[in-house]
Amino acid sequence: MTKELVEVLVPIPLEGKFSYKIPSGLKKEDLQPGVRIEVPFGKRTLIGIVWGKALNSDKTIRYKNVIKVLDKTPLISKELLRLADWSSRYYHHPLGEVISYFLTPILRKGKAAEFLKINFFKLSIQGDFLDIDKLSRAPNQKKALLFFRRENKELSQMYCKANGISPVTLANLCNKGLLKRYSKELIPERSKEKFLEGQNRVLTKEQKKALALIKAKPNKPFLLNGITGSGKTEIYLRAIKEVTDEGKQALVLIPEIGLAPQTEERFRRYFGDRVASFHSAKNERERLDVWLRASKGYLDVVIGTRSSIFLPMANLGLIVVDEEQDQSFKQSERFKYSARDVALYRAKLKGIQVILASATPSIETLNNAFTKKYSHFKLTKRATGAKLPEFISVDLRGKALKEGLSEELLDSIEVELRKKNQVLIFLNRRGYASSLICKHCGWISNCKKCDAHMTVHKNPAQLQCHHCDSRKNIPSLCPLCSSEHFLSYGIGTEKLEAYLRKRFSSYSVLRIDSDTTKRKDSFKKLFSKVRKNHPIILVGTQLLAKGHHFPNVTLVGIVDADSGLFSADFRGTEKVAQTITQVAGRAGRDKKPGKVLVQTYCPDHPHIAKILEGSYDNYALRIIEERKKSHSPPFSFQAKVQAESLSTNISRNFLFILLKESANLTSLPSSVRVVGPLPSIMEKKSGLYRWEINLFSNTRTALHQTLDLFQTVLNKPPSSKKVRWLIDVDPYSTL
Ligand code: ADP
Ligand code: ZN
Ligand code: ZN
Repeated sequence: MTKELVEVLVPIPLEGKFSYKIPSGLKKEDLQPGVRIEVPFGKRTLIGIVWGKALNSDKTIRYKNVIKVLDKTPLISKELLRLADWSSRYYHHPLGEVISYFLTPILRKGKAAEFLKINFFKLSIQGDFLDIDKLSRAPNQKKALLFFRRENKELSQMYCKANGISPVTLANLCNKGLLKRYSKELIPERSKEKFLEGQNRVLTKEQKKALALIKAKPNKPFLLNGITGSGKTEIYLRAIKEVTDEGKQALVLIPEIGLAPQTEERFRRYFGDRVASFHSAKNERERLDVWLRASKGYLDVVIGTRSSIFLPMANLGLIVVDEEQDQSFKQSERFKYSARDVALYRAKLKGIQVILASATPSIETLNNAFTKKYSHFKLTKRATGAKLPEFISVDLRGKALKEGLSEELLDSIEVELRKKNQVLIFLNRRGYASSLICKHCGWISNCKKCDAHMTVHKNPAQLQCHHCDSRKNIPSLCPLCSSEHFLSYGIGTEKLEAYLRKRFSSYSVLRIDSDTTKRKDSFKKLFSKVRKNHPIILVGTQLLAKGHHFPNVTLVGIVDADSGLFSADFRGTEKVAQTITQVAGRAGRDKKPGKVLVQTYCPDHPHIAKILEGSYDNYALRIIEERKKSHSPPFSFQAKVQAESLSTNISRNFLFILLKESANLTSLPSSVRVVGPLPSIMEKKSGLYRWEINLFSNTRTALHQTLDLFQTVLNKPPSSKKVRWLIDVDPYSTL
């Protein structure tokens, strides 16, 4: 007799599916694809996902039995199983790990896919008929019982508490058999639509045109390109409204958790409470709640960060990716997916539209628009009628600076504050100083684990490595020569903040970077201060650059426009232009005009000159030409194989052997250019030495063929456990 086998995905970093026997106690029909089951794996028990029926059984293998089925219906739909399969193939990452992104932590632990259960209480027959005077010696219980009689229905523990009945009293009444306790799933009601703000605001001419174009080609990705404040959000809100009016849902991806509260608020004003957000600042219970509501169709709109692209949606009709160029959409560890690109594929599978919105689209997206793969429209005016800020360059050559700030910038700050305006000073480097140097012998605060300096922080006072998060105390004496004279080299946001506080002591200075926004509600608190519209200096990193609307900011100071210009990363220049344009876009968004002071040592550098023209698009065209000439992405497709180990030799040899063994199997496609093995730009990181091979190809197919070939070699039983390897398709950063 042939055995009934089922193919299962387990959350381990190994390629492949595993077959298990269906024991006689279980029915085949209960093992639908997408259902969670418990399976033995080695000595452990793992939560696996049923993939399908196993087609062949191998007589020489003794298959183990499935232990238990956890779900009555599949948690992952067929469509999402297909998306997982594509993601796994495209990013060359084990399917068993990819599939776990489709669940929330609570579901990965095997717990029930149910809404929060809460305790309810109800009168028992005894409780109903008891002579109430029998409780006169227990006044709390008497009061409670009378309350239950009056309300005459089941009451939740929360409701009782709010009415002065403690859990202890409830427990006592249960013990006496006067109340019954049970727990029940709290299923949220689908709220009714109300009249909501903004829906009848008149769109500008450009906005109307954009919306019409979006509707005209519903099956093509749409690049909604528009200067900062041109009303892009307003447009996609309308596009979403059309979709939700048809009873479908929308998924909106945003780059930063920090933006979630304000975006959610704006959506709530528009769509009421059929909106929820999904991101890592939510606790596990809250995340499951959104997951369930989305999958049951109780939500119209879900706003979320990167991982939301894997959420189940009962009836998805539209995906929006806001600030599509943002780096945070690309996961930097393990499963290196790009949420934007997964979104494009998910939409294609489902035959729905993706709107990519940005004031500074990525070069690859712009190129797709120019070559008509995407529809697109450019909004050139601000929706409120406000003008775009004026760019002014500040040539730093030969000037004396105060903590990196020129007199011109400092004077402008003073003028704006006197006019009761707000000022934003942008520096993309947190901490106090980039490194600590001994004035006597030149000792420098290097990180022991990375090819990087440790950054000086004052609050709390310590040295921190921003690459591996090592921390140590600031030495009082130089470890080499025992001198006590140090120099804090380089400027970070903490140093700027300290200087600006001293110089403009009668104004408040707010620093907004990842150090000051660690707590859950810190963003909210900081922003409520900004919203009071008092004159204020904001000092911040790229966290401030994105999306925020500060109506009273009239001056933006870019402290260091040159960083990134000479980066080894071919995307360096693109990123500089995007960030500067984004930050500049914070200026003059309301009635008062804005101004951007750009400090640079290279005012004549062609890239800086283009940025100063204030047109990101012209700048992007120039970059596109450069990329074309150098055959860099998007004019070729790139992937990277990286190996890391405790020694530079082991990592290097591992990759050489990989190349050799792959070539032994079959020759590499000739259209693939192999660069390396070479040490990664930051060779040593977190104590590991990293080497890499970069692949460039004119066709994706050849690139994937090569990676498949590599994977056959890499997935062989490990010749050495000492090396960890990873594959990065469409790598984003070279570090
Ligand atoms: P973007 O997403 O392009 O930055 P937003 O949609 O956030 O632009 O719009 C910028 C500002 O203009 C917001 O304060 C918004 O409320 C306002 N706004 C957008 N569209 C209109 C409109 N048609 N009429 C008036 N104000 C608008
Ligand atoms: Zn020294
Ligand atoms: Zn380090």
